[in-house]
Amino acid sequence: MNYIPTIGLEIHAELKTKSKMFCSSLNDPLEQHPNVNVCPVCMGHPGTLPVANKAAIKKVQKVGLALNCTLALFSKFDRKNYFYPDLPKGYQISQYDLPFCKEGYLDIEGKRIHITRIHLEEDTGRLLHPKGTDYSLVDFNRAGVPLLELVTEPDITTGEEARKFAQEFQVLLRYLAASEANMEKGQMRVEANVSVRPEEQEELGTKVEVKNLNSFRSVERAIAFEISRQSQVLESGQKVIQETRGWDDTKEQTFSQREKEEAHDYRYFPEPDLPPFRFTKQEFEELKAELPELPWQRRERFVREYSLGMKETEVFVQQKDMGEYFEKVVSELGPDLAPEKLQKLTKLSANYILTDLMGLLKGASVNGEDFLITPENFAELVLLIEKEEISSAIAKQVLKEMFARGGDPSQIIEERGLTQIIDETAIQKMAKEIIETNPKAVEDYKKGKGNALQFLVGQLMAKTKGTINPETARSILESLLKT
Ligand code: ADP
Ligand code: MG
Repeated sequence: MNYIPTIGLEIHAELKTKSKMFCSSLNDPLEQHPNVNVCPVCMGHPGTLPVANKAAIKKVQKVGLALNCTLALFSKFDRKNYFYPDLPKGYQISQYDLPFCKEGYLDIEGKRIHITRIHLEEDTGRLLHPKGTDYSLVDFNRAGVPLLELVTEPDITTGEEARKFAQEFQVLLRYLAASEANMEKGQMRVEANVSVRPEEQEELGTKVEVKNLNSFRSVERAIAFEISRQSQVLESGQKVIQETRGWDDTKEQTFSQREKEEAHDYRYFPEPDLPPFRFTKQEFEELKAELPELPWQRRERFVREYSLGMKETEVFVQQKDMGEYFEKVVSELGPDLAPEKLQKLTKLSANYILTDLMGLLKGASVNGEDFLITPENFAELVLLIEKEEISSAIAKQVLKEMFARGGDPSQIIEERGLTQIIDETAIQKMAKEIIETNPKAVEDYKKGKGNALQFLVGQLMAKTKGTINPETARSILESLLKT
């Protein structure tokens, strides 16, 4: 039988704000010492009162605007009664029936994924279970950190689509400076609700909630696993049980954590310690005007302006700093360039940034203090390459120098005596010598052995100390060998 999968996501993201959601304790995810960023409010002492963090609310509203949501003109927080051992109040302040944002969407490769709601709540602390002990430790640094929750409609149909949605959402959070959204660090957490139904059945099947997905890869894999597991359960005539499952990254399997006998009764009620909020359309207009270029807008513009390949464009969209650097380099390539020339230089710039520069950066940012290559110098290097004043081998060497010490490429070439292209006749002479001293390889080449030419090219490259391109070496040798 054919089974149709249905997936809805719930994504949590810790917001990047100075202070926590309801008090002035620092929101510092990098703090290593436990229980430093705490105060009587986030420690739940009696008699304290929460005060809502305005900056956090604005960030959630911006995310909502970017995702085409309707923003609530009237909203409030609600108390969710549930004992969290790492949230000392004995309840969590969240939002129930009046979230800040509702009914939006995000298009993933042309398919519209609807967003049910985006609300704001507070994060819990962390529990640590030291190995070999019979106790647990609690770190409250994270307790009360603003936490955004986004819920999608069950519009997603594959693990891949879910992964792409989560990736695009992460990029958006970063563009809006709403969250670092690093999954490995738990700053962004994805839960997937998965069900399957037989093709001829109208209503959705029983859903299973999969937790502990801490990478995009596991989001995709866990969903694919669940789809096939549930299809097999139905195929064998059994029923899918509604439950929460975890993901085992090494076994690449989901496993049952707890069965949901019945829905939790959280006894939500309006948070009595916080007054409700009224916003104006004017305020929303102002927030909208503050939105930067969004990832999908940038993607479309990059395709239009630079006509790079999909892969290149995607890196520049997802890694905002690299994209911005690329644009600065292109703007330094010079005025009044003919379109074909500009196109060629643009491609060349992209290639050198995406391969050589990114290799040197090893994950560091071009916005870092110790990054020394100005866009102007990078553009100059690209121009030297294009004019064939230096070979690609030399260019790589110069780039390394620029990366280590900064500076102007022409100057580096001069100082280091990295002679430019050796003149044509000199190369011809060297090539002839190589042909004369390697009769065996020449013979092999004439017999049609491809790697014989490769060997000769290597010899010539070595002799010119890498100052010419392999393509040049090849064509010179080939034309000499033909005669
Ligand atoms: P719950 O009350 O159990 O939390 P919700 O209706 O709030 O369930 O939905 C939670 C998430 O599960 C949403 O992302 C929603 O799209 C998704 N979802 C709901 N029903 C299904 C289903 N049958 N299969 C897959 N996902 C579903
Ligand atoms: Mg839910």
